[in-house]
Amino acid sequence: MAQPKYEGYCECIPTKLVREKFGDANVYTQNAKSLLTKATGFIAAYDFTLNPYRGCQYGCSYCYAAVFSPNSQMRQDWGKWVIYKENAAEILAKELDKWYKKNPHQPPRIYMSSVTDPYQPLESKHQLTRSLLEVMVDYRPTLVIQTRSPIIVRDIDYLQRFQRLRINMSIPTGSELVRKDFEPRSPSIKARLNAITKIKQSIDYFNGFLPKISITITPLLPNIATDEAAFIAKLAIADRIVIQAFHASNSRSLIASTRQEAEEIKQKYSWWYEDEKLNYMRFKEKLVSGLPGVKIMEGKEGFGYE
Ligand code: SF4
Repeated sequence: MAQPKYEGYCECIPTKLVREKFGDANVYTQNAKSLLTKATGFIAAYDFTLNPYRGCQYGCSYCYAAVFSPNSQMRQDWGKWVIYKENAAEILAKELDKWYKKNPHQPPRIYMSSVTDPYQPLESKHQLTRSLLEVMVDYRPTLVIQTRSPIIVRDIDYLQRFQRLRINMSIPTGSELVRKDFEPRSPSIKARLNAITKIKQSIDYFNGFLPKISITITPLLPNIATDEAAFIAKLAIADRIVIQAFHASNSRSLIASTRQEAEEIKQKYSWWYEDEKLNYMRFKEKLVSGLPGVKIMEGKEGFGYE
């Protein structure tokens, strides 16, 4: 039998490969030692980041999280492996108990997720993120869920029970052609917008809490001229739009940067990238003038809860 490509990728942490693939991704399980990680950098306003998975099947070409892969081969193959943290719910409950012992009157602020998508395809099978919502809801955290996946709709029954929830739906472009170039494995733009519509329509105001909704255009990708106005109009569904330019490329490890794969795709869109700053500013101005009821925010400030 052929040996799985990454079996035994790390000798330090006991890891096992589930003997199946999910799509074309190798799937590993691991028992996590901890789930909540101190939040730093552009999400330092939160107490913790929470990543149910390591790795991400969406494998977006520009994803900065690839630098945190276990080894260089897996970094190169970003999107083709995923590790799920088998004991996540149990560990999270222990960590939240510990937090409340120290901070009895202060619910934690949690950002889920910073280096994976909590609703990537594997979630439809394992329901790991769902199990974490089930744990968290009784602890009354301030919670931000960052995703680009319509699978989130499955969990409306839990989402509506969080009093302080913001959903950040990532939609970096309004052009399907562009999306297919930069993030070919991700859900369609329409599916993401439909998911937000469904969440807003399904929550009964009298029996549940409506989440705050951000659309994160991070990084802003090119918009084909004929798609742009319709895209901007659809963004009115959110209370906040966050825009951000690409991370700079950096070949050093453990530095958030845009992957080489994206740099190559950018060449196809030279009509946009040759004047990137100007196109960014123009797009931002169109958001501001076209969406008077929506907050347009940039960078770190946009990722806050309030
Ligand atoms: S969905 Fe997010 S975490 Fe996953 S590859 Fe894309 S940018 Fe990275």
